[in-house]
Amino acid sequence: MLWLLPLLSRFLEQPRTSVCYRFKSFFFRLFALTLTGLSCIPFAQAEERYSLEQIFAERQELDKASAIDAAKTIELIDERLAKTNNNQIRQAALYLEKARIKMHLGLAPLEENLGKALALIKPELQPELYLYAMAMKSYGMYTYQNQAEQAAVLLDSLQQHPALINDAQTHLMFLTNQLEVYYKLKQFHKISKPLFKLAEVMNSGSMEQFKELYLDLEAELAYHSGAIGDTGQALALYNKTIRRAQQRGMNETIAIQYCNMANIYFLPLEEKIRYAKASLAAHTNVACSDVMDKLVLLGEVQQGNLANIARLVQFNTTQQMPRLNERSAYYAGLAYLQLNDLPSAKAMLNRITDPDNWERYDLLQQIRKVEGNYQAAFEASQRYQQLRAQKDAEARSLMLSSYQVRLEMAQEETQAAEKAKQAEQLAAAEQKATSRLYMMLTIIGSGVLVTLVLSLYLYRSFRLGQKLQQLSDTDPLTGLLNRRAFIQRAMQLHQLAHRQRFPLSIALLDLDFFKQINDKHGHQAGDAVLAAFANAAKATLRQTDIIGRFGGEEFILATTEQDTLTIAALLQRLQHSFTQHCSENIQLGVEVSFSAGIASVNAQGTTKHQDIEDAIRRADEQLYRAKANGRQQACTETLCLTLV
Ligand code: GH3
Ligand code: MG
Ligand code: MG
Repeated sequence: MLWLLPLLSRFLEQPRTSVCYRFKSFFFRLFALTLTGLSCIPFAQAEERYSLEQIFAERQELDKASAIDAAKTIELIDERLAKTNNNQIRQAALYLEKARIKMHLGLAPLEENLGKALALIKPELQPELYLYAMAMKSYGMYTYQNQAEQAAVLLDSLQQHPALINDAQTHLMFLTNQLEVYYKLKQFHKISKPLFKLAEVMNSGSMEQFKELYLDLEAELAYHSGAIGDTGQALALYNKTIRRAQQRGMNETIAIQYCNMANIYFLPLEEKIRYAKASLAAHTNVACSDVMDKLVLLGEVQQGNLANIARLVQFNTTQQMPRLNERSAYYAGLAYLQLNDLPSAKAMLNRITDPDNWERYDLLQQIRKVEGNYQAAFEASQRYQQLRAQKDAEARSLMLSSYQVRLEMAQEETQAAEKAKQAEQLAAAEQKATSRLYMMLTIIGSGVLVTLVLSLYLYRSFRLGQKLQQLSDTDPLTGLLNRRAFIQRAMQLHQLAHRQRFPLSIALLDLDFFKQINDKHGHQAGDAVLAAFANAAKATLRQTDIIGRFGGEEFILATTEQDTLTIAALLQRLQHSFTQHCSENIQLGVEVSFSAGIASVNAQGTTKHQDIEDAIRRADEQLYRAKANGRQQACTETLCLTLV
């Protein structure tokens, strides 16, 4: 039942309960496991790392169990904790599961278990567990401690953490918490980003794998659309969500989504009543059912149907939350006013205690008007207008940020469409050229000499075009890709890597003391050394690696590896081959070597291009370190290895 809370929270306009812990589909876990399997494991810390696979598997098992019986699952966790004295990491993971199950039971149980887990977690060695804990901690801060601002600072400080993408569940919880906290702080301009990212994470797998998640995102987008006044889109999305829920017989979800529809700010009252009826028809015992009941009663009273008004005094407070109680009272108060029952209307007014609730002032202004106290009615109306204006301003601000996101998305789509169009044109041109060639060849077959000459000419110009393309992509001295062509190829590889979830690293290689070679042996010898390096690289590197000349005596490598040791071994072989090529072909009488800086490409930039540029920048910093350390070394952020 716990998973109903987030859906309901749309209704509350209050800090909305995190949706993440519902993400329990088997496929989703499988996806997370795959991600982890591919993720980078710094070799120096290999023994101290933990198996995320085991943790995910146990998390999935406990998740399923807690959906059936939370109390029993906690007992099970305690039993396991008692037996795992040696394995601190598993202990931490179990405490985190306990915290997650208890997350909605209040701050104390959450903090207690988080504290125990955090005492066992080393953030550098178990970043995924640390981030999972921090996501829950932020939830506690903004939900129970009234520390939304601090929660936002915490989330913002971790949002670039590279390990976030290793665990999709944590990533989604993190993004959802960001959304919730921004809503709470009314930082609407910040909402678009996590929402956009959420959609990106969602779209990074096939929809089949993300069926459950998609339902949540759809509801999230529906809520967002409703909040910015895009009522049509909100209704359409809610209806879609409801249809999916209907297919699965999820009556509570259907009832709550209808509640959300009835709650759309800009919706006329008659329509609200219609959705309230639909909500009650689906289920009468979800937390917002009482509000729906009062809304339907208000409708009946307005139409002169007084058959059920006895229910106006009945409030189901056990399933209510403060905000819902207030809304029930608001609708009941409006109904009592219709019935000219002023004392009861006032009693309803007194149930609304939140001084910033516009519904309170709406009711108050109407009560004062009926009383004939026009001065007080005027004052209440002024406050009502003021609060409504604030809400309208919020909606406008949200609308703006949402448009911005849509604009960004549209721009990306346009760029993609442009590329696709270019590719299409190219393919069409190629096909045309090929068919022309075939036609010519047919005529050659008939023995016409002129045609033979013509077709040969066409063929040659076709090859010439190819050659020209190759020349414009290649560095003439070394025959390697030039800088522009390298970046282009690296971007393609990065897109593939991103889609297929394999790692990608960039290494910048710079020949050591190259100026001295030029100075001592002449520029030609220098050129020969550069060519020798290129030949060594061609001989050593794999088909999937891309090497280019970055400029001068600097080269750049993109490799589908992330493990530092593997890359270092690759560079080691290159160094060996480089020495051999030089001693065989140039005989300088001096040792040649190079230094390297390595960085992994992270898919974090807003464009793929930026990801590559960012990796190059970081690799350059490491190259600088390798030089400063004495050269002939390969450096990553964590270590430097000598290339002997
Ligand atoms: P370090 O180990 O710190 O990299 O020292 P270095 O001498 O290798 O680096 P520096 O940047 O001081 O000098 C690079 C030299 O490379 C300067 C430039 O004349 C030379 N160079 C750049 N392009 C070419 C080229 O195409 N052919 C030749 N022969 N030399 C080149
Ligand atoms: Mg150099
Ligand atoms: Mg240099």
